[in-house]
Amino acid sequence: MCKFAPKPTHKIKNIREVDRMGEYSHILVAVDLTEEARHVSKRACALRTAFSAKLSCAHVIEPLSLAYGGDIPMDLSTIQEQIQETARSHLADFAKTLNIDPEDQHLVFGRPETELHTLADQIGADLIVVGSHGRHGLALLLGSTANGVLHGASCDVLAVRVGT
Ligand code: AMP
Repeated sequence: MCKFAPKPTHKIKNIREVDRMGEYSHILVAVDLTEEARHVSKRACALRTAFSAKLSCAHVIEPLSLAYGGDIPMDLSTIQEQIQETARSHLADFAKTLNIDPEDQHLVFGRPETELHTLADQIGADLIVVGSHGRHGLALLLGSTANGVLHGASCDVLAVRVGT
């Protein structure tokens, strides 16, 4: 070794540590339970295989009270419960096709962008995979879920192009 070469400051313990640098270990795929979710999830599954990572999935239910505020003068709780039960069963069916264990299927309430950030932090996900319609013009100004997730995420975000 050259006698002027700087001493390494960090000792890498073994070759496996080097191999795993830059890999994802826990991927969270956001599913809206539409046909497009299949395409987005395929990409997430390919990454799970490539990195031998854990895969979790999440669907966010926007509470009717959030969407409509006090505009509808009626009790929405029964409808909300039905939406919740339908979503839970659809998410379970969908997750089964991806071989995702029940404890890694998350049904949460609120705004998708905010809830996906919170959940990713809670479960220690290092990549969030979302679908993106590649909107432009006015639609982009109005925003999309992919945009919202990208801004403010504390981990990487992969936007998978869907639709047109
Ligand atoms: P959007 O911008 O609403 O068309 O949605 C684009 C992507 O955001 C979808 O492909 C999903 O990955 C994610 N997404 C949208 N809505 C939800 C939701 N309610 N729960 C989970 N992910 C969602």
